[in-house]
Amino acid sequence: MSYLVLARKFRPRTFSEITGQDHVTRTLVNAIKRGRVSHAFLFCGPRGVGKTSVARILSKALNCREGPTPEPCLECTNCKEIAAGISLAVREIDGASHNSVENVRDLIETLKSRPPQGSRYKIYIIDETHMLSIAAFNALLKNLEEPPPNTVFILATTEPHKVPDTVISRCQRHDFRAISPSEIEARLVSIAKEEGIEYELGALKMISRLAEGSMRDAQSLLDRVLAFGDGKLKESDAGAVLGVAEKTLLLKLSEAVFGRRPDDVLNILDEAFNVGLDPRLFADQFVSHWRDLLIAKFGGEKGLKIRGVDESSVVSLLRQVEGVSQDDLQDLVYLAREGADQAIKSSYPMYALEALAVRMATRQPVYDIAKLLSGSKVQNSVVDNKNRNAAQPSIERTSSYEQKHTLTGESTFEKWRSFVNFVDSKGKKAMSEILKKATVKEFDKGTLSIVGPQILVNYFEDRDNISIVEAFLNEIEPGNKWRLKVDLESEGDVKSGESIARLEKKAEMESRQKAIDAIERSEAIVNIKKVFPGSSIEH
Ligand SMILES: [Zn+2]
Repeated sequence: MSYLVLARKFRPRTFSEITGQDHVTRTLVNAIKRGRVSHAFLFCGPRGVGKTSVARILSKALNCREGPTPEPCLECTNCKEIAAGISLAVREIDGASHNSVENVRDLIETLKSRPPQGSRYKIYIIDETHMLSIAAFNALLKNLEEPPPNTVFILATTEPHKVPDTVISRCQRHDFRAISPSEIEARLVSIAKEEGIEYELGALKMISRLAEGSMRDAQSLLDRVLAFGDGKLKESDAGAVLGVAEKTLLLKLSEAVFGRRPDDVLNILDEAFNVGLDPRLFADQFVSHWRDLLIAKFGGEKGLKIRGVDESSVVSLLRQVEGVSQDDLQDLVYLAREGADQAIKSSYPMYALEALAVRMATRQPVYDIAKLLSGSKVQNSVVDNKNRNAAQPSIERTSSYEQKHTLTGESTFEKWRSFVNFVDSKGKKAMSEILKKATVKEFDKGTLSIVGPQILVNYFEDRDNISIVEAFLNEIEPGNKWRLKVDLESEGDVKSGESIARLEKKAEMESRQKAIDAIERSEAIVNIKKVFPGSSIEH
């Protein structure tokens, strides 16, 4: 059974078959009864909630041979042709692909003609309206202002804020809402009964929750579970297919990331893929798991419950984020989102996920600038007490490459790095990038003296840039009247000087090598190498 089979088969045919949008259908039915149908509609709302279905039903209601009627007969030629998508009176236009000037001209041309024989109205259903070009909107606007006789426009969009106000104000607007899990569940139950499918209610509940308000998604998920389970709908099958039962696995994974244990991370992923989880679906869950952690950190228990996070994982989520700094968590969530996005698009989503998770588990933590400047000991803020031992290697690595640093002491260098991060956090990205190329000669008692390549010297020939740096210095360490000195680096500086840029490059190489080593050692790769002796992994 392929995707969308059920969605197509059970597409609603009448207003009464539409789920969860009573506020819309009631208004439309009343308007048709009173003969006061608008010539332009705007249907807004999330995907898969019935906008296009309602547009088609409205088309039938207007053009049915028995109509206009709120209950189209479904039997006449017009009703049948509209249902089959072959009616000459109803044009469905995809705003995403039909937004060129030619498409618009074509559209305007057809507006001049009368409705085809036997049809009362010409109806234009424009999907993804927000994707139309400016030219298309302008052409549309003219026709919304002076509607051609017997023409009805139905514009649908998931993003009404991208539709010009001038267009919105000329349409009768209807806001479709996400369908509640219980409404979806009721519909799935009736589909299962009608299809004679044996089902466990738990499976349908699971699907209803995962569909996130979209009936279309719910039906395609149902298709997938049915395809897996040989016609019977079991909760355990749904869990296996949809990967829902694996919340504990996701929790184990984030625990290993927080504990900076890349080897555990790889073993957990092995476990996930060995039970046959689809890596792309898993990537999706991975991101939403990190979102849950973010909510746990910033919204607490209440935030998690409002967003319907499963009761059983609330305690674990709260406990995991306890020892994690806000900055670190935001960084990790960002990495998870970007990385998962790439994994989903990748030809090797499994490897991409492994590399992502290892990267998250080995990344440099964000240091707290206030603590650094007050001279307190730098702590790895990602780690809670329980996992502190696991994090030792990374702290050692950080200090070992600073010990090699000959021109400035460790604390001066850390202080300098924090300062550059501070500049970056002030939105001065270009300035912080330039500063990373500098080697610090002196950073104390109101004097910051740096040397660097010509580009750095040129940059600070602009007096304003000097003033900005000095202002930042005064901001983080008031009391001194800070002065910035900038000089061209000597040959000796080039040889022995250590700028942030150079150290970052070195650290990145190290961490990349570590990730590669970890992947090479992972069970999956070892197994592949057993099967294909002499093979190598391309990075
Ligand atoms: Zn009809």
